[in-house]
Amino acid sequence: MDKLTKIVATIGPSCDSPEMIEKLILAGVNIFRFNFKHNILEWHGDRIQRVNKISEKLGVPVGTLIDLQGPEIRINMSVDQITVKEYDLLSFGEGQDLSISHPQIIQHLTIGQKILADSGSFSFTVEKKDGKTYLRSQSSGILKNKKALNIPGADFPFPVMVDRDFEGLKIASLNEIDFVALSFVRTADDIRVVRSEMKKYKVNARLIAKIETEKSLKNLDEIIDVSDGIMVARGDLGVELPLEEVPYYQKIIIKKSIKKGIPVITATQMLESMIEKPFPTRAEVSDIANATYDLTDAVMLSGETATGAHPVEAVKVMSKTLAFNELKNMVDSRKRFDFQVADQNATLCDAAYGLYLAYRNQNKKIAGFLAFTHAGNTVRLLSRYRPLVPIFAFDPTDTISDSLTIQYGVIPFSFKSSLKKTEVEKEDILRAVAFLKKKSLTKKGDILIVLHGEYWAAEGKTSTVKILKVE
Ligand code: PEP
Repeated sequence: MDKLTKIVATIGPSCDSPEMIEKLILAGVNIFRFNFKHNILEWHGDRIQRVNKISEKLGVPVGTLIDLQGPEIRINMSVDQITVKEYDLLSFGEGQDLSISHPQIIQHLTIGQKILADSGSFSFTVEKKDGKTYLRSQSSGILKNKKALNIPGADFPFPVMVDRDFEGLKIASLNEIDFVALSFVRTADDIRVVRSEMKKYKVNARLIAKIETEKSLKNLDEIIDVSDGIMVARGDLGVELPLEEVPYYQKIIIKKSIKKGIPVITATQMLESMIEKPFPTRAEVSDIANATYDLTDAVMLSGETATGAHPVEAVKVMSKTLAFNELKNMVDSRKRFDFQVADQNATLCDAAYGLYLAYRNQNKKIAGFLAFTHAGNTVRLLSRYRPLVPIFAFDPTDTISDSLTIQYGVIPFSFKSSLKKTEVEKEDILRAVAFLKKKSLTKKGDILIVLHGEYWAAEGKTSTVKILKVE
């Protein structure tokens, strides 16, 4: 059986050819991430179209995610790189030895404050002399332009979006984008600001908050309340926090997101060694497996697919590791999460999961769920229970089915012709089953749990849960 946990792959020069995109989808990629910090925006627009075309050709919904820089601080020099030696004193500010994307924060720095660059490979302390700010280096090496700069614990008032992010939204508005991720989220207000900008730019996508600062951890509950999804961005989180704290916060963030019913992505360095080598380390495979034991919706590859030497192999390692380990994770998620069952849809999903567990506890096999959805809510509510079988989701629109690509266990399909009718009829169910049989996703004798409402296009009105034996 296919894996249930989703894979997000960052696109880059190692995997952007049509052949590679197709291979990656067939190996298990569900969503491509376009990291707008790199490459020219036209490059992204072109590759987004490429991914959407290949997804259509294969008949497999594939999500597209744009990752905005947000209030992330980047080195912004007029040269490509500088050589830094331990004890060097660098002038810091616009037009100085070292300048950054938000120079207005420099005035807020205090003497002795710690500054890190390039994922913590370079560290500096702040010094001040004659009204000027300097950085005393504690490391040696070649520091490249555009690398990220972290000021752990920083809380400076600067805007949520940089100019390039607005350009990014323009590109998103011209293409089919399913998810927008915001880097360096600090508060729920950051999310509200980006959501209102997305509205202005007519970008109809789900908004994901990247948790990578101490401040976002402090405000985690409020951020989860206003976001459509969360990313555990372990790269920067591991610079902003002591590294040993990252696994603990990974578990907390995943648990809170599942409880709220929003998807969560576990990201960064999952197969870092495969950027160069054709095989993973034991520790990396363990990390992927542990993310599934945490019940993450999705895991993410960054450099491994974007610039690595073995992108397809990395995805295959991930798929195999997920498929084996997720089936060993026999939890009753109701005991683990204390879900709120607040409305009709949630109640029906709870009943459907109860049926599934009742069968499982008697060693009888449920082959999957068959859900007819309009806005995707029923499917999201069901996915949070993490059943160990697929949720086949049939939705009338591509926008919703693509937005479900991120959800644990969900295999979404567009079901367009039913839009003409108002009632959900037995014939719709039989047509969906025939479709699944044709794709070899179900077979005669399988037992499915079906969820639907009385009418198509009626949001929040799921009314039926039933057992269906495939003929
Ligand atoms: C991270 O820091 O873990 C992350 C995903 O962000 P980015 O790759 O955009 O730096």
